[in-house]
Amino acid sequence: TQYVYRFGGGVSDGGQGNKNLLGGKGANLDGMASIGLPVPPGFTITTEMCTRYYEEGETFPDSVKAEVANGIAHIEAVTGKVFGDAADPLLVSVRSGARVSMPGMMDTVLNLGLNDETVKGLAETSGDARFAWDSYRRFIQMYSDVVLELDHGAFEEALEIAKEDKGFHLDTQMSAEDWQALVGEYKALVEQQWGKPFPQDVHAQLWGAVGAVFGSWQSERAKVYRRLNDIPGDWGTAVNVQAMVFGNMGDTSATGVAFTRDPATGERAYYGEFLINAQGEDVVAGIRTPQYLTRAARERAGAKPLSMEEAMPETFTELARVFDLLETHYRDMQDIEFTVQQGKLWMLQTRSGKRTAKAALRIAVDMANEELITRDEAIARVDPAALDQLLHPTLDPNAPRDVLAKGLPASPGAASGIAVFDSDTAEKRAEMGDAVILVRTETSPEDIHGMHAAKGILTARGGMTSHAAVVARGMGRPCVSGVGTLAIDAKAKLMRVGTREVKEGDIITIDGASGEVMLGSVPTVQPELAGDFGTLMEWADKVRRLKVRANAETPLDCRTAREFGAEGVGLCRTEHMFFDAGRITAVRQMILADSEAGRRAALDKLLPEQRKDFTEIFEVMAGLPVTIRLLDPPLHEFLPHEEAEFAEVAAAADVSIDTLKRRAAELHEFNPMLGHRGCRLGVTYPEIYEMQARAIFEAALDVAGKSGSAPIPEVMIPLVATKRELELMKAIVDKTAQAVFVERGASVDYLVGTMIELPRAALMAGEIAEVGEFFSFGTNDLTQTTLGVSRDDAGRFLTTYVDKGIFARDPFVSLDIEGVGQLIALAAERGRATRPDIKLGICGEHGGDPASIAFCEKTGLDYVSASPYRVPIARLAAAQAAL
Ligand code: ADP
Ligand code: MG
Ligand code: MG
Repeated sequence: TQYVYRFGGGVSDGGQGNKNLLGGKGANLDGMASIGLPVPPGFTITTEMCTRYYEEGETFPDSVKAEVANGIAHIEAVTGKVFGDAADPLLVSVRSGARVSMPGMMDTVLNLGLNDETVKGLAETSGDARFAWDSYRRFIQMYSDVVLELDHGAFEEALEIAKEDKGFHLDTQMSAEDWQALVGEYKALVEQQWGKPFPQDVHAQLWGAVGAVFGSWQSERAKVYRRLNDIPGDWGTAVNVQAMVFGNMGDTSATGVAFTRDPATGERAYYGEFLINAQGEDVVAGIRTPQYLTRAARERAGAKPLSMEEAMPETFTELARVFDLLETHYRDMQDIEFTVQQGKLWMLQTRSGKRTAKAALRIAVDMANEELITRDEAIARVDPAALDQLLHPTLDPNAPRDVLAKGLPASPGAASGIAVFDSDTAEKRAEMGDAVILVRTETSPEDIHGMHAAKGILTARGGMTSHAAVVARGMGRPCVSGVGTLAIDAKAKLMRVGTREVKEGDIITIDGASGEVMLGSVPTVQPELAGDFGTLMEWADKVRRLKVRANAETPLDCRTAREFGAEGVGLCRTEHMFFDAGRITAVRQMILADSEAGRRAALDKLLPEQRKDFTEIFEVMAGLPVTIRLLDPPLHEFLPHEEAEFAEVAAAADVSIDTLKRRAAELHEFNPMLGHRGCRLGVTYPEIYEMQARAIFEAALDVAGKSGSAPIPEVMIPLVATKRELELMKAIVDKTAQAVFVERGASVDYLVGTMIELPRAALMAGEIAEVGEFFSFGTNDLTQTTLGVSRDDAGRFLTTYVDKGIFARDPFVSLDIEGVGQLIALAAERGRATRPDIKLGICGEHGGDPASIAFCEKTGLDYVSASPYRVPIARLAAAQAAL
């Protein structure tokens, strides 16, 4: 096996650079050398050697020693200098480089090859004794810190004292003799701390540094980083040994870092910093303020020190040419490190640059338009999840903030408004035209109207999948949840954080991206939906097979969803409609009635209201499919829970308090999630589903008549476990449809299907498909029922489960493909076997999760349904899944 690959001086052993073998840095040094860019010559010891090093008790085989000697000979041949030569010494840097850039790895050692003899040679050949002794003391300092791991504080202290003794403030005031004296002190420090003199043998220096790079692969820091970022321990790191070039040889020398495009905005403009007469880390270390690369950037910043474009115009032109070559070669925005030695440009590193979501979008679209990459590549390059940042208003980054507390970033976006501590007040104040932030200890379904009215939601309890978080994400409202330091007193209409107090009506701001809660209002900036975003979405739409629908239950949600490109509604829940202030009394009368006749009387009052709900939705969605789920939650959710409310509710519903209490007690359930809900309601009270079906068909005919374009209702029966349940429910819907069509003398197309959200339904899908015309996988409940985990209670242990690796990710956020996914695949297969044209979709939270969407594509579902604000994410993820 070959363990050493040479590069530079017309050589590139690695060919096109293999990152797995040579590490990212080594592969790209090789790549740059192969296209003729000025790379100081060097060689890479492979990651395979790192693995072998550990297998063989941290030793190097003789064959590698010979290969390294060969590598050194290559550098010597290209540079004409000799490693360890007292007259004209070769100096090298030793650099680590794993497949992916990894903090926690060994820092680079520069100027290796200097000792008491070679330093004199360097002084001679460079004609600059000060430079030579400065380089030597830097080398001892770095080597002692990074390789010998001595206490670097002592070295810094020695330097400070040396300067103080002379009355100097800056390193630049030190003379050759001053540095030489410091070298003496440094060597004494090494001997004192290490017990041995500083290594004078340059080969011992080299092997010490190489061993330290491999050693750092198993450092605690590196291990922690690998664990957090899912990097396998057996990847290993490579070592790069490379001839030194010097950016610190006077005013025609410099060192810098650059991006080929602006990493914050994606703008096509070189972006970066450089320092004249400086070496290596000086730019990043912040000892001196770096200068701008381009004149335009300098002028924009109103800075004085000349840009590189102005100070070194010729080298800059050369650098710009290299930037363009690198982009063409790597076909991506590059992050670059370079050094100029006495007017000559040298490239030291290049890699794909990190960028913001906004920049990622712009760069992908620009590069496709420049024909540097294909449109498919542009689609693949943008992380769908990152779009989330772009689809909501965000806080003006330049505005001052008075941060009160911090919680979980539960739903992105930012909002300012008056703090309000209950949902009724939120609704009232919003109607009066106030921007409102609803503040609750935690939210429940009864808060829906308040959440709708609010611009943002803040809770003291609850995690990322709490009611508040899920509903807020669904509505596209910013939400900060689980702010533990928040003490809310809803009765007194105030909250406290420590000694600070916020009363109802005080203005606060929440940032759902950072979890910050601020006092006062902070200005926001609106998202940009046209431009690059629109272009990329258009490309994605041409590629994807999966349709994308939205989970939407109000006309406003539907409009938002259509603006974001939804092709229908995949889940219109109907329970929230029942909470509406105008009709909750009728709902309660229906629940409290003790006969079918009584229930029907109450339902008659609800019918026109429910018809209006659907009419408004159908108007927005004309011509598109709308899946409406009939009533799902247990009835007691609609009854009051607080003693204080009983009297008022009883009076409104025209029953005695005793009747109300008795009925509430009757409806009480120990485990409502598995209780009297879903189609079980329809089986026991068929008149409820009958009313809902009538409202749907009447509304559909109204809209068809008015707009000429009929919606396509898909009536969905929830929580079905058996074919018989669905048969009974479908009969109600069909019978009602027929009755309405006869009354109206007109009809619309419709489907009746079911949610697959119980394992039994998935298993019996073949039989259920004899009745059901579509399946929608309700993966929220299907995850709960398959795992036997209640989503509302999982918060207490889910984090621990994820930390311990029991779940790779929260299964309510990203589908458990191994487990729940099997049920979906099996149900899809069995359903299709019975009814080849059965429509299949998914409508849980997972419909907006890219990994889950990839699974849906693989399983051949027809559509995914996501909350309106996640529709663009789903469109892009669906396109990527189809590529
Ligand atoms: P990192 O991975 O932390 O960026 P590098 O190996 O890239 O570490 O080294 C850091 C810096 O050291 C480089 O940006 C460059 O300025 C300097 N450097 C490394 N090798 C050389 C060299 N052969 N000649 C001159 N400077 C070098
Ligand atoms: Mg670097
Ligand atoms: Mg459900």
